[in-house]
Amino acid sequence: MRGAAHSPILKTGHLLGTQLLSVEEIVGLLDLAEDYVTLNRTAEKKTSVLKGCTLINLFFEASTRTQSSFELAGKRLGADVMNMSVKSSSVSKGETLLDTATTLNAMRPDILVVRHQDSGAAELLSRKLDCSVVNAGDGAHEHPTQALLDALTIRRHRGSFEGLVVAICGDIAHSRVARSNIHLLSKMGARVRLIAPRTLLPADAERFGVEIFTDMRKGLEGVDIVMMLRLQLERMTGAFVPSTREYFRFFGLDREKLALAKPGALVMHPGPMNRGVEIDSVVADDIDVSLIHEQVEMGVAIRMAVLDALARGLPRGGRNTP
Ligand code: ASP
Repeated sequence: MRGAAHSPILKTGHLLGTQLLSVEEIVGLLDLAEDYVTLNRTAEKKTSVLKGCTLINLFFEASTRTQSSFELAGKRLGADVMNMSVKSSSVSKGETLLDTATTLNAMRPDILVVRHQDSGAAELLSRKLDCSVVNAGDGAHEHPTQALLDALTIRRHRGSFEGLVVAICGDIAHSRVARSNIHLLSKMGARVRLIAPRTLLPADAERFGVEIFTDMRKGLEGVDIVMMLRLQLERMTGAFVPSTREYFRFFGLDREKLALAKPGALVMHPGPMNRGVEIDSVVADDIDVSLIHEQVEMGVAIRMAVLDALARGLPRGGRNTP
């Protein structure tokens, strides 16, 4: 395997966000993930690079793809994996994030994967715990493994990022996926566009240094990749759009709007999708343009690469070995 030489890929020993990653770290992870794409397509699907490591998945917010793919990734690498269900834990009895995490830390995990509703939660834990911390989504801040799996999917179809025009469309204001993708894609040389109604753009959207469009039809012109986002109703404190019907009319991706993008443009969505709200089923299910299922496959491979990369920084036998 290309990743067989045990050189560290992630210098900080954590994965907290794409804003903090260098181009070398990103490329290192994407290359390593390619090996895991290949492995995952064999009958065996397993290796033992994480043998002896304990991985804890601590999810304070609902997740389908991210949690299951981290679990699968850990198991395929030979780690002992524990999924911490927050509903049945002491968190529901009022224990704080830090108390829960330090309790888990005492069980001597090597890697903690955490999803939490507050921005900065993963970074806080990385400062307080002995293990490597992976951010699986912190509020509207970052979701680095989503951006990495998106990048892997794009690179497999387009070869490189240089000059590629990527439009991120929809609820940018509440999206950690958007932030992680803006940082990563800009670093890799892509031209990022944000397309959204004013109410769904962050107040300081200009600081990202990307092009901004409030008219989807204009924004889609010349675009290579159209990345759609879900309306994050759980993070909204009021009415941000007049109605989902009206939203679909102006910002939902259907065949007619997609035809305005570059011929051969590809469509992505991190899931979960709201069909008929931000994306029409006809587009989402069109295997000639939609990369949505491939994104899920790449999600397992990229999470294997991240866990492998972090394990390389661990002392033999685990971080906590005395
Ligand atoms: N699954 C992604 C996230 O956790 C996107 C979404 O929920 O809409 O942020």
